[in-house]
Amino acid sequence: MSKNILILPGDGVGQEVTASAVEVLDFLIKEYGLDFSVKLMNVGGTAYNECGSPLPKEVLNAAKESDAILFGAVGGTEWDNLDWEDRPENALLTLRKELNLFANLRPAFLFNELSEASPLKKEIINNLDILIVRELTGGIYFGEPRGIVSDKEPNYAFNTMVYNEDEIRRIAKVAFESAQKRDGKLCSVEKANVLEVSKFWRSIVTEMASEYPDVQLTHQLADNAAMQLVLDPNQFDVIVASNLFGDILSDIAATLTGSIGMLPSASLDSSFKGMYEPCHGSAPDIAGQNIANPLAMISSLSMALRYSLNQESISDKIDTAIKLFIQSGYRTKDIAVDENYLKTSEVAQKIIDIIQNG
Ligand code: NAD
Repeated sequence: MSKNILILPGDGVGQEVTASAVEVLDFLIKEYGLDFSVKLMNVGGTAYNECGSPLPKEVLNAAKESDAILFGAVGGTEWDNLDWEDRPENALLTLRKELNLFANLRPAFLFNELSEASPLKKEIINNLDILIVRELTGGIYFGEPRGIVSDKEPNYAFNTMVYNEDEIRRIAKVAFESAQKRDGKLCSVEKANVLEVSKFWRSIVTEMASEYPDVQLTHQLADNAAMQLVLDPNQFDVIVASNLFGDILSDIAATLTGSIGMLPSASLDSSFKGMYEPCHGSAPDIAGQNIANPLAMISSLSMALRYSLNQESISDKIDTAIKLFIQSGYRTKDIAVDENYLKTSEVAQKIIDIIQNG
């Protein structure tokens, strides 16, 4: 059955890196006869300029009908002073919420050839390959009640960290299954020493472990996990955490690799439809210069093929091609050691050549 793919390049370098991913996708469709229907639409500031909304209704509808969405990045100084509902970033949060994308998968991996870019010593960071599974639609970012009370003395503000059993089970299931496909190790991160919601989280995850005898489950408190990520990141395989703790830990993990232009992400619903985007933003400082690194976006395409489009072997081909690209010494400006680097628009063809040459 044909699969629907929606391409949303967005703003700034989002447009440049998405063009590279589309070039690779077009090649794959022809080369392997893939039955994909691909649609491209504007989102974010670009859509706001065009029709007064960062997420026009027809884009949201097309997103709901898609199996996979490739999302570039949104935002830019031009739109920074708009009201929140008109801000480009609102399109992203609305899409996540409307599509119920509760599982955020953020791999953090390092090609050893690029270990100079990491803030950590080579012997600590080499071979890094972690997957952070973050709950994305619940927890303290969405919990009610919330508010700022300014008519009491003293004034105060409050949020609610809440998870129900179903929310914990569905994210833990994604994490256990991801660990089964990797090295079989899962670390669940919370603050069970001080938070009831964390104690509850730990009890549910522990109970579920009996369904996955091939996965070795451990637990860490969030503050310790943050330290361990810096001290000894290679102890981790898969980490699962709530929205808040996952947000913080995935940014630490991304920083360890030292190259934001390399890291992809996936946000999935319960039937593995999803939105795929690089971890970086629209990079207004380099937009339009043809120097952005498109590998995070191409890697996001690979995740889409793996998780939403049932094309695991083609996903493997892309991952191998990216590895060979780096091993062959090809660089983009952000990871280059000298002036010898490829422009954004030259990267896709190199990846295609590597795939074609096996
Ligand atoms: P950013 O990720 O856009 O840029 C941070 C730094 O990384 C910049 O120096 C940039 O040049 C560099 N960088 C980013 N992507 C790169 C790439 N592919 N290749 C080479 N270098 C790259 O973060 P920011 O500067 O904090 O935000 C800029 C805008 O992007 C803001 O409007 C912000 O709201 C938005 N943003 C959007 C998303 C998203 O759409 N998912 C995520 C983060 C930020």
